[in-house]
Amino acid sequence: MAQVIRSRPNEEEFALSVPVVIIGAGGCGLSAALAVRDAAVDVLVIERDSRVSGTTAMSTGLIPASGTPEQAARGIEDSPERFRDDIMQKTKGRTDPDIALHLARESVETIQWLRDRHGIPLTLIDEFLYPGHSAMRMYGSPNRTGSELMAALEAACVTAGVDILTNARVEGLIVDANDRVLGVEYVRPDGLRERVGCDALILACCGFGGNWDMVIEYIPELKDAVFHGHTGNKGEAMAWGRAMGAGLADMHAYQGHGGLAAGHAIPILWPFIMEGGFQVNTDGLRFSDESQGYSEQAVKVLSQPGHLAWSMLDQRLHDLMMKFDDFQQAEAAGAVMRGTDIADLAARIGVCQSTLEATFAEVDAVKAGSAMDPFGRDFRGKPPLASPFYAAKVTGALFHTQGGLVVDSNARVLRENGKPFPNLFAGGGAARGISGAGADGYLAGNGLLTATTFGKLAGRAAARG
Ligand SMILES: Cc1cc2nc3c(=O)[nH]c(=O)nc-3n(C[C@H](O)[C@H](O)[C@H](O)COP(=O)(O)OP(=O)(O)OC[C@H]3O[C@@H](n4cnc5c(N)ncnc54)[C@H](O)[C@@H]3O)c2cc1C
Repeated sequence: MAQVIRSRPNEEEFALSVPVVIIGAGGCGLSAALAVRDAAVDVLVIERDSRVSGTTAMSTGLIPASGTPEQAARGIEDSPERFRDDIMQKTKGRTDPDIALHLARESVETIQWLRDRHGIPLTLIDEFLYPGHSAMRMYGSPNRTGSELMAALEAACVTAGVDILTNARVEGLIVDANDRVLGVEYVRPDGLRERVGCDALILACCGFGGNWDMVIEYIPELKDAVFHGHTGNKGEAMAWGRAMGAGLADMHAYQGHGGLAAGHAIPILWPFIMEGGFQVNTDGLRFSDESQGYSEQAVKVLSQPGHLAWSMLDQRLHDLMMKFDDFQQAEAAGAVMRGTDIADLAARIGVCQSTLEATFAEVDAVKAGSAMDPFGRDFRGKPPLASPFYAAKVTGALFHTQGGLVVDSNARVLRENGKPFPNLFAGGGAARGISGAGADGYLAGNGLLTATTFGKLAGRAAARG
């Protein structure tokens, strides 16, 4: 039960005190910890699970950066201002433009800092554009998995001398009358309670996706969705913030996904859509402009019969997708069906053959420029799908929430009146993101952008004291 315990300075006798405490060992928490150690300041990361993972380990691990030397070397035109404009366009102007530009500017240094100072193997991916990005600016680890990213962050933390305490769920913040955090109280799996003091606290315990009561309260449109995020993220950051009078914003913003392999809990990622694939419902009919974004596609899929859709690929798109660990897993799990032609595929997935053939013909006509897409999708430059074909049955999912504590450009948590708390910071899913309202403001990569960059900024500011 998240609570704020009021106390007086010096009244608490902490057996242990550390300059900086971080709650949560995901991408934000470990980035913050590295930044604290860069300043040679001691830090303790407290994690509820028995090992570090979080949503970050479940992710694809792609982090955007704009205006980097690697982009320039490959002739990719980009800049922080252009990235900010993409964010503002995706959110329809419903996020803070100054924070968006600040994060876009910082993103370049975040990648260089993680890679060059801490050995995180990040390279520029320049094979496809993600929805809403006007330039190729995604960085990822060799196998493009969040588990690889987390393993590298954990190894860097070991090298840097970060202390990580696992199996410790923080329940209480110990706070004085001026809202200065004095320490935290955590509970061990055997029920033992312990307290540790701190000079600064960073909330890196993500959002409330693992608390279905809160999801229904703030995002009722997801009542039929599958939660495919980290179940340990229960919204404690928001509960503590609310109890202390912190500002909360965009609580109904989230990253959804319209392509979770049904019954397999494996995401079928969006590159195949961006390169010309599409979705049909169980009647074999298209129902949307899939290229608008995978996040908003969740609700569109959930509104189809059985809350299901089929994602359609051909061999070219299948080859592209096999570069992703998730898709390889989906293949191995039998989640991807193959048909030698449309009739064969229709029989295998139980969809009316003539309807499916008509849908393919309609998409081919749009791609050839001889028809308009009824959903307004621009298929220009994308070749028609060619046999053999592939299909994966998918449903709509919630990946993580994007609303949270309002922070400033140094990741300081702000009160409802806009003034910062003395020593409280937040980043990643615990803080308000740059995703506007609802699902359609989420721009791919902005989950880890806010996790790593706000984490870095919070760590640096907390270490300064
Ligand atoms: C399938 C999937 C794919 C994704 N792909 C991408 C991508 O490619 N790019 C991108 O930018 N974003 C992606 N995201 C989103 C991204 O993963 C998240 O935005 C990001 O990982 C959030 O990082 P975080 O550190 O805030 O939270 P987390 O990584 O979830 O870490 C929070 C940690 O806090 C711990 N914790 C929670 N409460 C407590 C407590 N009370 N006490 C102690 N510990 C606690 C949790 O156990 C957890 O380890 C994806 C998400 C999913 C689900």
